[in-house]
Amino acid sequence: MSSTISFEVFPPNTQIGAEKLFKTLKELKQLQPDFISVTCSNNRQTIEETTLKVADYIHKELNVPTIAHLPAAYLSQAQLVELVTQLDQIGINQILALRGDILPDLPPKKDFVYASDLIDYVKKAAPHFHISGACYPETHPESHNRVEDIKNLKHKVSVGCEQLITQLFFDNELFYQFQESCYLADIKVPILAGIMPIVNRNQALRLIKTTNTKLPRKFLAILEKYEYDPIALKEAGLAYAIDQIVDLSTQDVAGIHLYTMNNADVAKHICQNTKNVLNGQIKAG
Ligand code: FAD
Repeated sequence: MSSTISFEVFPPNTQIGAEKLFKTLKELKQLQPDFISVTCSNNRQTIEETTLKVADYIHKELNVPTIAHLPAAYLSQAQLVELVTQLDQIGINQILALRGDILPDLPPKKDFVYASDLIDYVKKAAPHFHISGACYPETHPESHNRVEDIKNLKHKVSVGCEQLITQLFFDNELFYQFQESCYLADIKVPILAGIMPIVNRNQALRLIKTTNTKLPRKFLAILEKYEYDPIALKEAGLAYAIDQIVDLSTQDVAGIHLYTMNNADVAKHICQNTKNVLNGQIKAG
């Protein structure tokens, strides 16, 4: 069985960053992804200039299927309708429907408390939209336990979420346990595995500081051994991600969603080294 391959990019903050991203996107297109998704900050003021602009470029100029991330905790219903209309007008009808992170000093609006409220609303207002949702192999940090999180996920799917994309993880066993929990809860939509190749020390340190993701012993050993050797760290980080993907492909994962960090070379390296396993083209002997 073949798995899909998709990429996530984020809109840059600067004009130089924007020009670099458009070049990166052209290179990503060459890798023939099933789709490219574009993240969106909770800061509604800039969404037209950021997510929508990048998504429009991917969809119109590159002709690659595009998913726009849409965090709704800080959106009113009217703002949401306006955004969905804008997306529809530029021809994008795939979204990753999110609640988004709640900022400590800014109370969210009340219209879309959970991602499932957003999904329910969009599915009724614009049924032609294909809706993906986020999921968490290690359980969402605000959830009290796995059972509660899976129950909420099931609700997300029952109101119209057609595909799930996981938070990044470095321990495949946790993903398999999560998949099994979904299966037992009768959640049958495709679950794409979010993989982030670690290619430099700052990225690794940021991850250790900010993430709730469990870092396996093998992964920590790489960071420790090659902390001050950038070339070796990059090589080992890429090899780790490839190893994860190969293992996932043996278990018939529905898809790999690569957190590219806007780095086309990294995506290229990963794709070149997993092309055959992801396409299921390896022949016996
Ligand atoms: P929800 O699905 O609403 O879940 C949030 C919490 O509420 C969970 O603990 C859940 O169990 C609980 N819950 C859900 N429904 C109910 C209910 N009905 N009753 C009670 N509890 C409930 N953030 C951004 O700001 N921009 C992005 O572009 C972005 N992209 C992302 C991409 C991926 C693949 C992932 C995995 C995450 C992304 N995030 C992004 C982060 C995400 O917004 C945060 O993780 C956020 O904290 C939760 O969003 P959610 O959509 O998963 O929320």
